[in-house]
Amino acid sequence: TRIPKLGKTQKKHNKMCGIVGYIGTKDATPILLKGLKRLEYRGYDSAGLAIINPANNPANNSANKLAVYKTRGKVADLARYVQGKDTAGTLGIAHTRWATHGEPSDINAHPHYSQSGQLALIHNGIIENYPVLKETLLREGFPFQSDTDTEVLVQWIEYMRTTRNTDLFHAVQLALTQVVGAYAIAVIQQDDQDIMVAARKSSPLLIGIGEGEYFLASDASPVIEYTKKVVYLNDQEVVCLRRDREPEFYNLQQVEKDHRIIELELTLSQLEKGGYPHFMLKEIFQQPHTLRECMRGRVNVDNNSVTLSGILDNRERFLKARRIIIVACGTSWHAGLLGKYMIETFARVPVEVEYASEFRYRNPVLFADDIVVAISQSGETA
Ligand code: GLU
Repeated sequence: TRIPKLGKTQKKHNKMCGIVGYIGTKDATPILLKGLKRLEYRGYDSAGLAIINPANNPANNSANKLAVYKTRGKVADLARYVQGKDTAGTLGIAHTRWATHGEPSDINAHPHYSQSGQLALIHNGIIENYPVLKETLLREGFPFQSDTDTEVLVQWIEYMRTTRNTDLFHAVQLALTQVVGAYAIAVIQQDDQDIMVAARKSSPLLIGIGEGEYFLASDASPVIEYTKKVVYLNDQEVVCLRRDREPEFYNLQQVEKDHRIIELELTLSQLEKGGYPHFMLKEIFQQPHTLRECMRGRVNVDNNSVTLSGILDNRERFLKARRIIIVACGTSWHAGLLGKYMIETFARVPVEVEYASEFRYRNPVLFADDIVVAISQSGETA
C-alpha cells in the first residue's frame, strides 16, 4: 500500500515546533543538529542554529562571535549549509520553525538577532501582541529584517536590557511581563559565552541536567541519550543556565522558584518510531492498542455498562445539556467529528465540532446549559 505523504497544505493550526539548546564542555553544533533531527517528527519548514564562537579562536580577533546559520528546508540542508563554516563553540541554540508569521524563508527562519547583533533568540509559538510592541520599537529606531513576531521579541528583550540597564536574565523576565501569547524561547548573548536564558508559556520546554552541561529541548527525545535527569519548566517561568552553576528559576514577578528533577524512565527507542519507518504508520498501527488501553476499565462487556469516571461529577449537566460543542484541532478535530456522529446517534443531543483556533478568536454563542469538550492530542496545541 502506498502511504500518502502529509503535504504542507495539511498543516495543523497553532503547531509548535522544535527547540534545542546546549551549554557545556562539548562541541555544541553536532549535539544541536542531532537534537533537531530527533524533533523532526513534529513537522517544520525551516531550521537554524546560533553558536558563540569563543574569543580564544584567533579567527575572531580575540572577541566572541555570535554566529547564526539558518535556512529554509530540512535539518539535513542546515547540516550541509554549516559545513566548512565556523561552528566552534560550547554554547548554542537551534530551532525548527513552522511558520505562523511570515512565509517560510531563510530570513524568517530562526534564530533572530537583536539590532546590535548581541542577542540571538529562538521561539516556538505566537506573540499575539507583537504589533504594539513593534510599533514602540520602530519609534525607537529598531530595524527589522523579517516578518516574524519572533524578531519583535528579541528586539524587545534588547530594548529592556539597554533601557533598564540590566542583565539578560532580568531583561527576559521584564520583557515577558509585557508579552501576550504562547512561547518557548531560548536566548544567548555574544559577549557572555557562559549563559543561556530560556522561558516558556503554553509551549513545552525541558532542561536536561548532565555532568557539567545543560540541555534544553521541546521534549525529551534530544536529551535522553545524554542524561535521564530533566526538569520540566513551568508555565511563565524563566530559567538561567550558567556554566558550573545550579540553574536558577524565576517567575515573571522576579520571584525565585523551586524546581523538581525528574528521572526519565523512557528509552530513546520508546520515544521514537517504535520500529516503524515513519510516525504516521506507527500511529496507525497503534490505534487498536490505544483504543483498548483507553477503554480498559471503562467499558464493561459482562454487565453491558460504560463508566466514564471523568464525567461522573458532571453527569447531571451532561444529561441536561441542550448542546455539546467539541473544540479541537487537526487529528483531534477528526476524532471530534466521529464523536459527533456517535453522541447524536446514541444520546440525541446536537453536537457541533469547531476548530479550536477559530473558537478561541471569535466570540462564540454559548448558553449556560451547553457543554464544551476541549480535545488536545498532545497537550501542546495552543
Ligand atoms: N511565530 C514564530 C514564527 O512564525 C514561531 C513559529 C514556530 O513555532 O515555529 O516564526
